[in-house]
Amino acid sequence: MSLAMSNPLLQPWSTPYGLPPFEQVRAEHFEPAFDEALKQHRAEIDAIGANPEPATFDNTVAAMDRSGRLLDRISELFHNLTSSETSPALQAVQRQMAPLLAAHYSAMHMHKALFERIDALHERREQLGLTPEQKRVLERFHFDFVRAGAKLGPAEQLRYAQVMKRLAELTTRFGQNVLADESAFQLVLRDDADAAGLPDFVRAVARQAASDRGIADAMVITLSRSHIVPFLTFSDRRDLREQAYRAWVSRGEHPGEHDNRPIAREILALRNEQARLHGHASYADYALTDTMAGRQSAVTGLLAQVWEPAKARAAEEREALQALALSRGETAKLEAWDWRYYAEKVRQVRYELDEATVKPYFALHRMVEAAFDCAQRLFGLRFVEQPQIKAYHPDVKVYAVHDAARGEGDDSLIGIFLHDNFARTTKRSGAWMSSLRSQSKNTGSAAKAGVTPVILNNNNFAKGAPGQPTLLSFDDANTLFHEFGHGLHGLLSNVTYERLSGTSVLRDFVELPSQLFEHWLAEAEVLKRHARHYLTDEPIPDALVEKLLAARLFNQGFETVRYTASALVDMAAHALTDANVPDVVEFERAELARIGAPADVGMNHRLTHFQHLFSGSGYAAGYYVYLWAEVLDADGYEAFVEAGNPFDAAVAARLRRFIYSSGNSIEPSEAYRAFRGRAPTVEPMLKGRGLTRASIPQPERI
Ligand SMILES: [Zn+2]
Repeated sequence: MSLAMSNPLLQPWSTPYGLPPFEQVRAEHFEPAFDEALKQHRAEIDAIGANPEPATFDNTVAAMDRSGRLLDRISELFHNLTSSETSPALQAVQRQMAPLLAAHYSAMHMHKALFERIDALHERREQLGLTPEQKRVLERFHFDFVRAGAKLGPAEQLRYAQVMKRLAELTTRFGQNVLADESAFQLVLRDDADAAGLPDFVRAVARQAASDRGIADAMVITLSRSHIVPFLTFSDRRDLREQAYRAWVSRGEHPGEHDNRPIAREILALRNEQARLHGHASYADYALTDTMAGRQSAVTGLLAQVWEPAKARAAEEREALQALALSRGETAKLEAWDWRYYAEKVRQVRYELDEATVKPYFALHRMVEAAFDCAQRLFGLRFVEQPQIKAYHPDVKVYAVHDAARGEGDDSLIGIFLHDNFARTTKRSGAWMSSLRSQSKNTGSAAKAGVTPVILNNNNFAKGAPGQPTLLSFDDANTLFHEFGHGLHGLLSNVTYERLSGTSVLRDFVELPSQLFEHWLAEAEVLKRHARHYLTDEPIPDALVEKLLAARLFNQGFETVRYTASALVDMAAHALTDANVPDVVEFERAELARIGAPADVGMNHRLTHFQHLFSGSGYAAGYYVYLWAEVLDADGYEAFVEAGNPFDAAVAARLRRFIYSSGNSIEPSEAYRAFRGRAPTVEPMLKGRGLTRASIPQPERI
């Protein structure tokens, strides 16, 4: 049998919905499949560039948009597997392929004949009689090429390609190192004294983790967020909290083969060089040209609006924590591993709310139903589970997604959704949306149906014990809704060209659909309907809903400081105008001192494990985007508040058309205005975070 015949990656996927044949795919299939797919893509690009006909939109831009589908299909599968179900064999292929893929895209973007055609069309774009979407995809491709070095001289292009190739190697390494440090750590709790203070749900997930790791009669705390955060919140053992906290914040900062310090430093230096080749003084300047914000001052201006108020709020919070600690006779200085612990105690007193009371109402399956129900009420979507379809891991659930607006039968299928909710050692930390196939209608033939998207959501929830449901915290449920909002952005995409599809938007716009969707979880009506006790099926009591919503502003100083400190350090690191980058740990320390960051609060991510910045370039000089999008989502949700109904049909229809379906086919501030009828204002965001004076609730006790 020839290679192509025996390699499932290179054959047509005759599986249901054209999903990858997960059960047949092995790590060793990828390298030869990539080789073949790269070869095919090169041939497609060469053919477009060598076309003897003069350049037209169809024979150049539309053809480019259709090219590389085999490569996309294999890359997307590979990317999903290395994120969610990796192995040493896949990691080896990843290290091998990352620089080759980077070199391939560099070569494509520096393809002289191809760029000349795109450039010629771009020059004449107003005279070509294009639709608005066609004009936008032409501009987008032109911009992609210029940004990737198409206009550089030959010597610079050579260096540019080397830089991109090396960056691909380094960013791959960075992510693998974080995973290695996370997998290596385990805090084994042998007895009740070790587990002092931990509620049953934390003990249950820790027992499960111990059994997963083959450790009998013990509990294990890992560095997964759904382990470490509850542990720091509840453990009475200050010594163990300190041990776990130090392990968590020092990921990537250990000498040896997984040390991310030299890697982050080299990445920053190379990014500076990349920016300079484009004539920008810093990587931040270069990256921000392709955003709504546009320039550093717009970003730092927004961050400054929250930084000082958030620090002031955190100082008030600290006083309350210290008062509580003192009242218990504890006089030690408050440290970073104490904050969550005392915050939980204050929260219990102030709101009479503890996680152990809340979680039984937030069973995972109920919250998934809640997310689906909101999607149905807003957009008419129906999620139908396909238990007969096996994905890459038994825990992954597959759904066919139908749209009521398109009728009842098979015609109503708009996409496939894979839900992968549990933490495991083969999965990277965090929560994210990704795809196996993007929506588009550019098939090259009117007879061929458009491409339906295949969208994934990954979470890292600690799985319930066998036979027990998985219970979420309110924060976890919020993460579920957040990623589901990204998922809807992919599923509802309704554009012609793949380059403009779904989440391929400017990066300070991409968190709008996800953060906006979080607002529905906080609707009392949604909670009453879906947050039901997993044993009794009783809906969550009104008093508990009120407390939950009231408590949302609690500890927001802490949360906002942690986020904003990370965003400011990101911006500072990428604003360096000198390629001679200092030691990143020392740089971070100096930067935190300069902005007056409180040490006992900490950061969401330190530079040595800041995967947003260094596992890829998507969020480099871009961690601010969550706050930028929050201005939009807080202002956007007000449209439903003003309509007096969280599911108002007219507002939902505009939201679907201009935000969730339009991809990058409309300029983002124009899309927002079309949805909202005006530009956004910053006040709803400040109010939502409790950072305006009027919204500070005066504590009655403590
Ligand atoms: Zn997100």
